[in-house]
Amino acid sequence: MTILEVRNLTKRYGEQVAVKDLSFALEEGTATALIGPNGAGKTTTLSMLAGLLRATSGSINWHRESGVGFLPQHPHFFPWMTALEFMEMAAKLSGVHSKNALSQSKKTLEFVGLGSVQNKKTGTFSGGMKQRLGLAQAIVHEPKLLLLDEPVSALDPTGRREIMDLLKSLQPHTTVLYSTHILNDAEQMTDQLLFMQHGKLVEHGSLGEVKERYAEPRIRIRFQ
Ligand code: ATP
Repeated sequence: MTILEVRNLTKRYGEQVAVKDLSFALEEGTATALIGPNGAGKTTTLSMLAGLLRATSGSINWHRESGVGFLPQHPHFFPWMTALEFMEMAAKLSGVHSKNALSQSKKTLEFVGLGSVQNKKTGTFSGGMKQRLGLAQAIVHEPKLLLLDEPVSALDPTGRREIMDLLKSLQPHTTVLYSTHILNDAEQMTDQLLFMQHGKLVEHGSLGEVKERYAEPRIRIRFQ
């Protein structure tokens, strides 16, 4: 079943076209990498899908009742709050009933491996811990569609693998769309690739298909 359908999505900033005529669909339970170099239009695309940015034209259709989770590229955590306080706030803002917000926050912090530091202030967290906390706030309401803007780009290889494993374990309940400029990340858990350049979708298919069409070394050179 299709969970998200995007048709002819375009975003202009004045003369600049950041995203041009983007069309694709996501099947429920799949993981898709939105891959492309800096400035390709990945953040602009995800921000439109998350409802944070208005498209200039085109349409986005998805089952809103399924819920959507979003992890921005640079999430902000209030440094004076503990991880649990932050999560309770995030849970309530995401529509979790206030009587369930505490238990759901604790469960999600355990899931991302932050259970033992839930009472520490987020200002003391390392980059990797913040990335886990960002993921936790994006999934606390158990959304069916999860949008992640470069969830692992700032992490070392071990941290990257750990976050990708967490994302993998959300399937098939959750459909995941995440952006990256590193092909190796995509290879770990991805069913299909959306390959953007200069705001346009230049390839769409399974990893195998895309590799066949574009000689693998060329993609590696471009993205690593
Ligand atoms: P990165 O990997 O560097 O985050 P990206 O693929 O996410 O890049 P976007 O941030 O979506 O790319 O940017 C796409 C294009 O749109 C870029 O040329 C960028 O300069 C431009 N752009 C993005 N936001 C704005 C804005 N608010 N005003 C004007 N131009 C913008």
